[in-house]
Amino acid sequence: MELGTKAMWEQAVEQLSIPNQAYIGGEFVCSQSKQIFSCINPANNQLLSEVALCDVADVHNAVTSASKVFQQGDWSRQSPQQRKKSLLKLADLIDKHADTLALLETLDMGKPIKDSRLLDIPSAANCIRWYAEAIDKIYGEIAPTAENQLGLITREPIGVVTAIVPWNFPLLMACWKIAPALAAGNSVILKPSEKSPLTALKLAELVAEADFPPGVFHVLPGYGHTVGKALALHPHVDALAFTGSTTVAKQLLMYAGQSNMKRVWLEAGGKSPNIVFADAPDLAYAAEAAASAICFNQGEVCTAGSRLFVEKSITKEFLSLVRKAMNKWQPGNPLDPEVTLGAIVDAQQLKKIQQYIELGEKEGAELLQGGQRVRQELGGFFIQPALFGNVENTMRVAQDEIFGPVLAAITFSDSNEVINQANDSQYGLAAGIWTSDLNKAHLVAKQLKVGSVWINHYFGGDMTAPFGGYKQSGIGRDKSLHAFDKYTEIKTTWFSFQG
Ligand code: NAD
Repeated sequence: MELGTKAMWEQAVEQLSIPNQAYIGGEFVCSQSKQIFSCINPANNQLLSEVALCDVADVHNAVTSASKVFQQGDWSRQSPQQRKKSLLKLADLIDKHADTLALLETLDMGKPIKDSRLLDIPSAANCIRWYAEAIDKIYGEIAPTAENQLGLITREPIGVVTAIVPWNFPLLMACWKIAPALAAGNSVILKPSEKSPLTALKLAELVAEADFPPGVFHVLPGYGHTVGKALALHPHVDALAFTGSTTVAKQLLMYAGQSNMKRVWLEAGGKSPNIVFADAPDLAYAAEAAASAICFNQGEVCTAGSRLFVEKSITKEFLSLVRKAMNKWQPGNPLDPEVTLGAIVDAQQLKKIQQYIELGEKEGAELLQGGQRVRQELGGFFIQPALFGNVENTMRVAQDEIFGPVLAAITFSDSNEVINQANDSQYGLAAGIWTSDLNKAHLVAKQLKVGSVWINHYFGGDMTAPFGGYKQSGIGRDKSLHAFDKYTEIKTTWFSFQG
């Protein structure tokens, strides 16, 4: 599709109405405390909007409403076909309002309008549509019993599901959770990140327009340590689906243990290895992909290919190709459709990235290019993507999730060495392997302790494939039919016939 010009998007900003209220019990409301918090545009550091700051009292209201509507069955006992109809209507409304949603996403967290409009928003609509279409095609099971018995195995919605999501793909991460949760018949409370609440609030308007029963879907903007924590500790929240950092993920497990042992599903951090063997089919293409694996979405991607393992014999040649490819990713105004690298989400995240660049140099890695703060004339938070060479896998720049465009290149000699190093990480989210040898690709893929392996490309997959992590990258899977496991309980009903 045609994306138009920067001037057109800037003009659209002038006419944009920015949502700012919480959505509780089917009503758009201020928080009980009437407190607000500021949303800042990271591309120019200017105020975008003041949004309702929810806290414990609002959590109480939302959970009470969500629980009541679940028990009444207004949504939970509707037929799958009826729920499908409402969800399809919601997906259509997302498509209809795609320009507005894309603009809100870009203004709120700094990603290029090209990505918001062509990837995030269409993918969010597609996700809702996929689960809507799936829900009336899933059957229960019958156990293999003796003739005088019947064992029915059925799935039931869990109850009140809370989704706590991050700021890097705000609407899409929300949809990965709310789409299967709603399709399965649950009531849902969405807590967006305080750094990017706007598309969640707009989504609430679309849910209202799509005629979902009031109380089935709520949006509570606010801080993690208040509203997020209160949701995670609430005795009437039955399941918690989270995407965010591993540190917060561990806290949520504790909150569940301290309260009602709610089901906790976690999509957490990553430090993914991207492994390039000397026999990769096309080194220039692999280098472009390695650059995109760390520069796409400003490197603020859980599966970013942030550890680049390069076979020793091609290190010099390959890193020179990567340098060229990374040079194409120049930070710029996210409202310009030509721009592929936007602003870092806020000053705090920019500082964290800069500190890691300093640390890498102190640890003895060689900064081959990038790493400077740039485009300060725009007033926002922009950084030139950084490439480190001579990195040891034990260095912190190779072990910690930086969540920015900082690539650590590490050399290796053979498959065994690279498998050991790739697995030497607390994380286990994804990996890339580049080789023309099918045998080697399979053998290495099998031994990597990660949830997704991409062969001869990076960032593969669609709604049909599950997504999630091994080790401290998470528990459970988003996407595909496997996601229903998180939002349903399995019931066995056993009949014994007499006579
Ligand atoms: P974060 O953990 O700081 O915050 C995520 C969400 O949790 C936010 O809504 C936040 O308000 C909330 N939160 C914070 N403290 C909380 C608490 N004590 N109790 C309850 N909720 C709390 O993460 P972030 O900085 O927003 O996002 C970046 C992280 O997300 C990275 O680690 C990244 O790898 C991860 N991520 C993972 C995936 C995945 O699918 N595995 C996808 C995207 C992002």
